[in-house]
Order: sequence, then C-alpha cells, then structure tokens
Amino acid sequence: MRKVLITGAAGFLGSHLCDRFINEGYYVIGMDNFITGDKKNLIHLDNHQNFEFIEHDVTEFINIEGVLDYILHFASPASPIDYLKIPIQTLKVGSLGTHNLLGLAKVKKARILIASTSEVYGDPLVHPQTEDYYGNVNTIGPRGVYDEAKRFQESITMAYHRFHGLETRIVRIFNTYGPRMRLNDGRVIPAFMGQALRGEDLTIFGDGSQTRSFCYIDDQIEGIFRLLFSDYSYPVNIGNPHEITIKDFAEEIIKLTGVNQKIIYKELPQDDPLQRQPDISLAKKILNWEPKIERREGMLKTFNYFKSLSEEDLHKRDH
Ligand code: NAD
Ligand code: UDP
Repeated sequence: MRKVLITGAAGFLGSHLCDRFINEGYYVIGMDNFITGDKKNLIHLDNHQNFEFIEHDVTEFINIEGVLDYILHFASPASPIDYLKIPIQTLKVGSLGTHNLLGLAKVKKARILIASTSEVYGDPLVHPQTEDYYGNVNTIGPRGVYDEAKRFQESITMAYHRFHGLETRIVRIFNTYGPRMRLNDGRVIPAFMGQALRGEDLTIFGDGSQTRSFCYIDDQIEGIFRLLFSDYSYPVNIGNPHEITIKDFAEEIIKLTGVNQKIIYKELPQDDPLQRQPDISLAKKILNWEPKIERREGMLKTFNYFKSLSEEDLHKRDH
C-alpha cells in the first residue's frame, strides 16, 4: 500500500486531501500542530485502519518511520487574519517547514507537492494571472509574511528539484471554499455566511469593486490530485476563473441565504489585491482539468455546512 504524508491535515484543504487519498486506497499519515486547524475536521478518520495522525510542528525536525511515497505540504496559516496574527510562524512554516519536508522527501525518495498560492502574484498587474507572471508583492507590507514565505517555498522547492533531482510539484491555489472552512477565519465566504447566520450586517472591505474567483473544494482537490500524478515540475494554477466583484458577491450571498441584512463598508486592508482571476490554460492542457461545480451549487453546500454547526461554533470570535 502506497504511503502519503499530508501536512496541515487538520485544516480545510488538508482534511479533504486525507479523505481523497484514503478513498483512493492510500495509507495516509496526517500531520498538524492545530495552530489554525481543528481536530473535528479529522474526527471521522479516528480509528480508520489506513490513517494515522501525528501532532507535530513541521518547522521542527520531522521523523517518519519506514517508507514514504508522497508528501503533500499544506501546513500554513492561509487566511489574512490568521497570518497577520501569527506572522513569524507563517514565515517559518513556509521556509523552515518546507525545508524540513524537502529534506524528508530526499531521504525517503518521495515525490513532494507543495501548496503555493495566487498570493505569489501579489496585487497583480497582469490579468488574468498566468504562471509566467512574476508578480507584484510588497515584501515589507503586512501580507508580505505570507506572500514571501510562499515565494521562498517555490524557490527552495525548485532548487531541490534542480540540485538534488527531487520529484517536485507546485500548485498555485486560488481562493477555494467549502465545508470545513473555519467560520471565524476572516476569509470572505465564512465571514459573509457567518454574518448571514448571526443576523449581522455583511462587511465589505473597501468599495467592493475588488474581484476574486472562487473554486469549490472538490474541484480543487481533483486538480491537486491530477497534478501530483502528472510529470510537470513547474507551478500550475488551480482555481475557478469565474470572477466576481466582492460587492456583487455580497448581494449574491444575501439572495442565496434568504436573509435581509444590510451591507456595510469598512476600510480596505493594506495591499488587498484589487483583482484576481486564474488563467487555467496550463491546467487544462497538461492535466485535462477544469472546474465543474457552479458557484451557486458550491455556495449552497457550504452554507448548509455552516448551518449545521453548533451555536458555540457560530459565535466563536477567535481561534
Ligand atoms: P487551514 O488554516 O484550514 O489549514 C492549514 C493547516 O496547517 C491548519 O490545520 C494548521 O493548524 C496547520 N499548520 C499551520 N502551521 C503548522 C505547522 N508549523 N506545523 C504543522 N501544522 C501547521 O488553511 P487551508 O485553507 O486549508 O490552506 C491549506 C494550504 O493551502 C496552505 O498552505 C495555504 O497557504 C494554501 N492555500 C489555500 C488557499 C485557500 O483558498 N484555502 C488558497 C491558496 C493557498
Ligand atoms: N473581504 C470583505 N469582507 C470581509 C472579508 C473579506 O470585503 O468580511 C474582502 C477582502 O478585503 C478581499 C476579499 O474579500 O478583497 C477576499 O478576502 P479573503 O480574506 O477571503 O481572501 P484573499 O483573497 O484576500 O486572500
């Protein structure tokens, strides 16, 4: 049985990856230190014969017994309020953590896929973003801790590939959503849906003309899965190109959730990208992948998940 290590396993994407690999017949080792994750995301795998969990901070030396075939490095705070709250850990997990995992991959002769992000493009001057765009990042701005950690992560991964001949894959993930997002992680979908459920006004940052393109989790996992098993070592964008302004999106959520709250406006955070849309031509060509799930369907599934949470979860303000 093939063995895969998934870091960030208690998080949103990591827990869905654990499910996918178990369903595909792999033995999965999940690793997490719970800094932004939640034990509940893995509760259904407790006692599963093909799953084990190691509580560990990946910025510390990692020891895994026996054979390892694949590593998926997804550990990292991922929402702006998380990485602004824990900036040093964010830099460390992208740099030291990635270094440890690349070292582990080298020893085990494992193939490693690392989770990069559309944030490597910063506030992009090229639209939509293609993989060959170098980006526009403010290295010393508040978001720089995340963006630069991820850019370093890509560089060190390519260096291990070129220098050590390691089998590496890099996925540039664009805004992804779905069940198991943390309701209070500050990202726009949990923020709006939490506000809708609590009967609060929806908070738009800035004038709402900034755009994002939202990809449903199942589509994202499929893209990552195909990339891991492809023979392509350079970065690949995985996301849904269907772009929308945050203002239109807030109105869509109000309609979808059937609430009648108002929209209120707050200050736009520094360096908040004004537009974001993946160019997915490369993924289409080399992975024969494109997203299948319409935003309405994905949003309904996500809203139903948030509705199923306890009152305590709904009102939890901080992690
Ligand atoms: P998440 O916060 O739900 O999950 C991240 C997980 O990593 C958490 O469980 C957290 O506890 C764990 N973690 C953080 N630092 C750690 C450390 N030092 N050691 C061990 N575990 C640690 O976030 P997510 O949305 O699931 O994101 C997962 C990955 O995907 C991240 O690398 C993120 O940068 C990337 N990504 C996500 C998105 C998105 O839209 N969700 C977009 C771009 C990139
Ligand atoms: N946003 C907003 N209201 C909120 C939370 C976020 O208007 O309550 C905006 C945020 O400023 C950004 C967009 O929604 O322009 C997406 O934010 P998110 O934190 O989800 O992800 P980002 O793509 O910025 O990393």
